[in-house]
Amino acid sequence: MAGEPQEDCLFCNIIAGKIPADVVRETDTTLAFRDINPQAPTHILVIPKAHYKNAAELAAEAPQLAADVLAETRGVAEGESLESYRTVFNTGSGAGQTVWHAHAHVLGGRGLNWPPG
Ligand code: 5GP
Repeated sequence: MAGEPQEDCLFCNIIAGKIPADVVRETDTTLAFRDINPQAPTHILVIPKAHYKNAAELAAEAPQLAADVLAETRGVAEGESLESYRTVFNTGSGAGQTVWHAHAHVLGGRGLNWPPG
């Protein structure tokens, strides 16, 4: 059920401390940790602690929590001293989503091309 922890969800298991992660920030409602396969010098994931399968479900069902995640992307950028950065929510497999727990990618530390691939 949306909002409830899922036993078979990688990011729920990171939140539960069952899988290690390089955590950079935490709030009551969000967690930010370094991506295991970084695509830029800084590549940090910001996730809601509650389980929603992607950004669309998060925005529809928990808009305040979606706002918390967005606010934390700014906090991550500030913490990493990123003047320019990109925030990405891959939503659906056709857009490259591979982990089915909503997350924002924060990418920075190098030039980023537009449009993305
Ligand atoms: P997506 O492709 O769903 O937008 O992003 C999922 C991200 O999770 C990928 O960038 C991937 O490298 C990252 N990832 C997958 N497994 C792990 C893990 O066990 N730990 C961490 N820190 N990141 C992971």
